[in-house]
Amino acid sequence: MTNSTQSAEQTDGFHLVVDALKHNDIDTIFGLVGIPITDLARLAQAEGMRFIGFRHEQHAGNAAAIAGYMTQKPGICLTVSAPGFLNGLTALANATTNCFPMILISGSSEREIVDLQQGDYEEMDQLNAAKPYAKASYRINKAEDIGIGVARAIRAAVSGRPGGVYLDLPAQLLAQVIDAEHGRRSLVKVVDPAPRQIPAPDAVQRALSLLKGAKKPLILLGKGAAYAQADADIRAFVEESGIPYLPMSMAKGLLPDTHAQSASAARSYVLAEADVVVLVGARLNWLLAHGKGKTWGAPKQFIQIDISPTEIDSNVAIAAPVIGDIGSCVTALLDGIRSGGHGKPDPAWTGSIAERKDKNLTKMAAMLAQNPSPMNFHSALRSIRDVLKTRPDINVVNEGANTLDFARSIIDMYEPRKRFDSGTWGIMGIGMGFAIGAAVTSGKPVVAIEGDSAFGFSGMELETICRYELPVTTIIFNNNGVYRGTDVNPTGGKDVAPTVFVKNARYDKMIEAFGGIGYHVTTPEEMTRALTEAIAAGKPALINAVIDETAGTESGRLTNLNPSTAGKK
Ligand code: ADP
Repeated sequence: MTNSTQSAEQTDGFHLVVDALKHNDIDTIFGLVGIPITDLARLAQAEGMRFIGFRHEQHAGNAAAIAGYMTQKPGICLTVSAPGFLNGLTALANATTNCFPMILISGSSEREIVDLQQGDYEEMDQLNAAKPYAKASYRINKAEDIGIGVARAIRAAVSGRPGGVYLDLPAQLLAQVIDAEHGRRSLVKVVDPAPRQIPAPDAVQRALSLLKGAKKPLILLGKGAAYAQADADIRAFVEESGIPYLPMSMAKGLLPDTHAQSASAARSYVLAEADVVVLVGARLNWLLAHGKGKTWGAPKQFIQIDISPTEIDSNVAIAAPVIGDIGSCVTALLDGIRSGGHGKPDPAWTGSIAERKDKNLTKMAAMLAQNPSPMNFHSALRSIRDVLKTRPDINVVNEGANTLDFARSIIDMYEPRKRFDSGTWGIMGIGMGFAIGAAVTSGKPVVAIEGDSAFGFSGMELETICRYELPVTTIIFNNNGVYRGTDVNPTGGKDVAPTVFVKNARYDKMIEAFGGIGYHVTTPEEMTRALTEAIAAGKPALINAVIDETAGTESGRLTNLNPSTAGKK
């Protein structure tokens, strides 16, 4: 120590990382301990942060990502080096793809050995590995830079289009010792981490005049709209404009699915027929058939509200881009509608939508009313829908192929940011990570509606759910396989077909191993009883729901993406 005025008190990298996170009101870390970050997790807990330990880093990462989506604060995932980092990287990439703010913090091996490839314990050039999958990637090499490094990571995760940030912490950084006062002064509190971005007035005017001339307008709400937490303004925009709307799956509940203006039950019709479509935080990616082709039918013009200018014209020409944060953009459009003499849409348009909705809802009601034995997706989901209707505050996690497709349209949502699913990639494996993240973040119950195949990716996290006594009820739609359980090995050999699982598996026994409550249900009545009881208990529970093993189509509704089923009906 050369400066005689420095205090004798010292701090180190471990303490500064925890201090920097707490200084920015981050109170929870999702992770999995090991060299070199075990003491970091211990210290975080000792300093009053919540550390939620997982059995696999991917699920810790997914929990962090969904926490970020729910709160607009980056969710933190902490992992060990190389393999632990790579496991977490899947979740980081998924967060970036879905525009969820998270920070993956990984310990790493010594730089000088990694860079010369001399074979260190868990050696890997993690920073460069992370770069293609993260919105931003940083490494901190000096303890006095921890404050600024964490601040940079937070701002990168939440400003503009949110995404996943990688933060590399070499083992020797954590052990570095510096003067405590110097350390305290190096901390940075991020001011206005996600600044509002006000749309340009001429862009708003362009959008308003296009909307004014529309004969068959449609609003499409995406999960960007849900993320933005501009719920009241979005609702006012929809209701005061009188324009029918469609929610993308994670935007369900932004307005209650039972809302009179929801066109969900006439989705194909409105997409094909609309002439002007207002996209609010939704991308024209594969989930929206790239904005073209048969799905979109008649020629149309798009107004697109998004925070990311390069999203515009990514698939089709956008007639009226409105760039800014959703709250500011929607408010500007709303002001224009209020003052600009915009009439309500032509009753011929809204009337024809209502007619189709009625027809489709009647058809669906008839399907849902059937009581086949064994249960099928519809009869099981009918029970779940009716129970969840009484608890609009419950978080719903949903993944699978058929289980995802059917639940998305059958389970109504009533409140914003309560539905978490396979998202932009349409992936399997988010189930238990999202469920844990949602339960920890909201303190409210979670019902995870899972295909048996999808559940398998994160099933071991049942132990995590039980360890933290989280109010998560997992429902397994058990039809003995991927898509269904009836495929056969054409050779007649001993191995089962690639899509087939153990028949009549008892997933309910898995949770019992960790002290949770298991249910085995075979009828809609048993489902109603089990789910009602599990939610009321507020304890970890798993319902093994036996579904007809012939129910379920190959690739669910994605047959057009599967080379073997494309073109077949
Ligand atoms: P969905 O899958 O529901 O259609 P996407 O994830 O495709 O939704 O689209 C979300 C869009 O929302 C992204 O293009 C993203 O840039 C945008 N977005 C996210 N947050 C905001 C915000 N606060 N303001 C404006 N746009 C946002």
